[in-house]
Amino acid sequence: MTDKPVQTREPLAEPAAFQRALIDWFLDDGRDYPWRRTTDPYAILVSEIMLQQTQIATVLERDYFGRWLARFPDVAALAVAPEADLLKHWEGLGYYNRARNLQKAARVVVETHGGRFPESWEEIHALPGVGRYTAGAVLSFAYDMSAPIVDGNVARVFARLFDHREAIDSPAAQKSLWSWAEALLPESQVREYNSALMELGQRFCGKGAPDCLACPVASFCATRDPEMLPRKKAARETVSVIEHALFIVHEGKLLLEQESGSRRKGLWRLPLIPESAARKMPVLLKSKYAITHHRVDLIVQQGQVADLTLLGVESPLRQWFDLATELPEVAMPSPFRRAIERILQMDSDAASFSLES
Ligand code: SF4
Repeated sequence: MTDKPVQTREPLAEPAAFQRALIDWFLDDGRDYPWRRTTDPYAILVSEIMLQQTQIATVLERDYFGRWLARFPDVAALAVAPEADLLKHWEGLGYYNRARNLQKAARVVVETHGGRFPESWEEIHALPGVGRYTAGAVLSFAYDMSAPIVDGNVARVFARLFDHREAIDSPAAQKSLWSWAEALLPESQVREYNSALMELGQRFCGKGAPDCLACPVASFCATRDPEMLPRKKAARETVSVIEHALFIVHEGKLLLEQESGSRRKGLWRLPLIPESAARKMPVLLKSKYAITHHRVDLIVQQGQVADLTLLGVESPLRQWFDLATELPEVAMPSPFRRAIERILQMDSDAASFSLES
């Protein structure tokens, strides 16, 4: 059991004291993320959509947020951008429909609201890809308006704070979480309060054993065994998949195929071939990656131009890309980008070795 201070105060009985403890801590010790330096609702929406299903460290590491805003500085620029450009700037973040929804939202702002970002909960919530959490985040972070938020971090904090022992992904639990979020919401400094609540879940009240001794609201927290909470319904079973991908370079160009499925639609990757066709080809590289509940073994096979009959008739979804000039620019799922880079690196290592020896 975690060495955790006992509860001495009730958050719902003393909401102002709870809010003060969180806000004061945040003003003193909150993190300085790039999206916290702006009150532009479009930029806040971009950050919120990027941070759905993606870790803060990943977004910061390659400056996705800054690069996106440099290329698409406002809704007008995003609304008219080519899709390939969006996907390229989203490359590595995954869940590419988020980028498409951002563009759809930008178009609604341009076409329906004359380019001015809406300021009401209903209008923001009506934008494509914007749910209850995101609408509350934009309202509170951009306009400092009183709007509750419940994301995964906040849900975990509340489950522990209120010692909620039922599964938090049930409709009844969701109702309780949102009602606590509303009941504890301050009337002012909502930006700081909501930021603090989320950061508490990231920094102290994380998954597994939390750091309760450093927690600014430990005296309000009811649970005695936080590492057991929150509870969730049984997770979806993991499915193992094997993908055989074809690697053919011809006259300095690599053959790629465009995804047509919904998840990575529009991105370019190595063509996939059936196991029966792959059997006779040398293996260049094996790697693993995960996507949603799938665990994928990616096996890249060395092909020849003559093998193209294996792929069937010519398809407009397949295209050759120049290794030096076009390949770096094309949007591609990260596991394929990494595999191709490693193979090309192995090739150049082998080339330099043979030159040296
Ligand atoms: S870190 Fe979480 S579990 Fe620990 S005292 Fe704070 S809110 Fe409660």
